[in-house]
Amino acid sequence: MSDCIFCKLANHEIEPDVVYENDLVCAFRDAAPVAPVHVLCVPKAHVSGVNDLDPANADLLTALFEAAQTVVKKLDIAEEGYRLVINSGDRGGQSVGHLHLHVLGGRDMTWPPG
Ligand code: C5P
Repeated sequence: MSDCIFCKLANHEIEPDVVYENDLVCAFRDAAPVAPVHVLCVPKAHVSGVNDLDPANADLLTALFEAAQTVVKKLDIAEEGYRLVINSGDRGGQSVGHLHLHVLGGRDMTWPPG
């Protein structure tokens, strides 16, 4: 999508602070982090969100979680623990209409989330 900010970041039209990437996913640091580690795993292809996923996206979903796994290892928070979040829709707090997996870590997480 030509006007999608995450399409532009994940495909380097705008340069993000990349932590890891592969053919399908770009993982970059959130511009407004809410934890010491706050990385977004973003598919390079445009998918609006969880509601738009279907079985054809299986490879993309696997790549998204593999990227998260690589990020937590690379940033050395795999063992201490971290949180993965996908916000969906207005009430779920989704502000960018391009699927993304938040990787949050480096501090204790609270439950329930706000
Ligand atoms: O789940 P949600 O859609 O609210 O997450 C969007 C995230 O994208 C926010 O954490 C926001 O800080 C981040 N963001 C970014 N760079 C932008 C726009 C949003 O890192 N240019």
